[in-house]
Amino acid sequence: MLRLRAVELARMVREGEVKAEEVIEAFYERVAKVDGKVRAFVRLIKERALEEARRIDQTVAKRGRLGKLAGVPIAIKDNICIKGVEVTCASKILAGYRPPYDATVVARIKAEDGIIMGLTNMDEFAMGSSTENSAYGPTRNPWSLDRVPGGSSGGSAAAVAARMAPLALGSDTGGSIRCPAAFCSIVGLKPTYGHVSRYGLIAYACSLEQIGPMARTVEDCALLLSIIAGRDPKDSTTANPPRPFNLSEVKGEVKGVRIAVPKELFGEGTEPRVAEEVWKAIHLLEELGAKYEEVSMPSLKYALAAYYVIAMSEASSNLARYDGVRYGFRANAEGDWSKVYSKTREEGFGPEVKRRIILGTFALSAGYYGRYYLKALKVRSLIRNEYLSMLKKFDVIISPTMPTPPFEIGEKVEDPLSMYMMDVDTVPVNLAGVPAVSVPCGFIDGLPVGLQVAGRFFEEAAILNVALAIETELKLYSKEPEVA
Ligand code: GLN
Repeated sequence: MLRLRAVELARMVREGEVKAEEVIEAFYERVAKVDGKVRAFVRLIKERALEEARRIDQTVAKRGRLGKLAGVPIAIKDNICIKGVEVTCASKILAGYRPPYDATVVARIKAEDGIIMGLTNMDEFAMGSSTENSAYGPTRNPWSLDRVPGGSSGGSAAAVAARMAPLALGSDTGGSIRCPAAFCSIVGLKPTYGHVSRYGLIAYACSLEQIGPMARTVEDCALLLSIIAGRDPKDSTTANPPRPFNLSEVKGEVKGVRIAVPKELFGEGTEPRVAEEVWKAIHLLEELGAKYEEVSMPSLKYALAAYYVIAMSEASSNLARYDGVRYGFRANAEGDWSKVYSKTREEGFGPEVKRRIILGTFALSAGYYGRYYLKALKVRSLIRNEYLSMLKKFDVIISPTMPTPPFEIGEKVEDPLSMYMMDVDTVPVNLAGVPAVSVPCGFIDGLPVGLQVAGRFFEEAAILNVALAIETELKLYSKEPEVA
């Protein structure tokens, strides 16, 4: 059961071959067995999940209609709101906060009879690439327990890789879905900006982030995307795509597909063996009839700097609301409101979040706004234009997702710059707003390597199609980590 794909599980539940309750029990049993080691989940909602499962089983018994995710268990990142369930962004400052509403993605999953199992660990407020910056402590990589699972959606990726859930949701501001997908050998997709509603996603940097699907196979990832994508009146940044995302276009057929391979995304810091694995996959695509060309996108060398200025600036503004009055935690402080605010923020936020609030506030301050924030916005426009012109000539852009295989727990957490450098290949697409998927493409000494495919606005089907071709050739989904 744990190995079945979400599409198969849903079909079996709908046709009464297996009870939703049995499915749910099996996955919670797996969690009980392995999550003591992996620590992917921070909160389980088993009672609710079982109730849902029984309701679904009754519907099956009455031959009622069921949705596309009938009885499929789903893990959700701890920054997505479920009505009445504590959500904390892995931060002490939100401890005890229970949102009074469902995020749109949660409502859409429920409407298709998917079952949410619980919330997964992450870097605090999604700030990080390793899931070590968490008030709950680090999540471990199921492929090697002394390594990081990537971040910030590391809990979601580890849960899927360790077969604790067939599907998960993450959020991606600068790589937080694709990085852990690459490090855990699963598929993770950052949708086009505006394709998936952010209503009910706790904000880090609004102009960059999207909620997206994570799964072991491209088909499952595409299924979850088809359910969460689409215009939402509750999020005015969502748009109606020119053509709705169409699952049937994801066939793994790459004949004639034109691939750009930018040399900047294989730059300094890229481990040669990672580049080698990615190139092998590009040559496979060539054998299948695709054509590639090595190109240069000169503005990309400024992407990381621009990303961090913009992300931190937006974060400093978004996180101003946590003052101990409206949400979660309040410090025990004497004196006037300003003392209560500052003590709450001092005790409530972790060190990385504080660093970013301080840097972001600085970048936005009157004397430096032009020099940092405004300049970063200009670089952002250059990068977007470069993607748009590249994607006129080519259908997709391929690169490594991460420059290295997963690193050791503790290796980078004290050295923020080296952690930020891990995001060189993932942040450009967030600045541009285009979609990108990470698909497993190999292993180096037992550690996963992911390949990134970026594409045109709202053409997720095209990038998933290329990812599927790679998956069909390599069949890496059949490899399992040995956590037991
Ligand atoms: N690692 C990046 C950061 O720390 C990306 C995080 C994300 O996508 N949420 O900002």
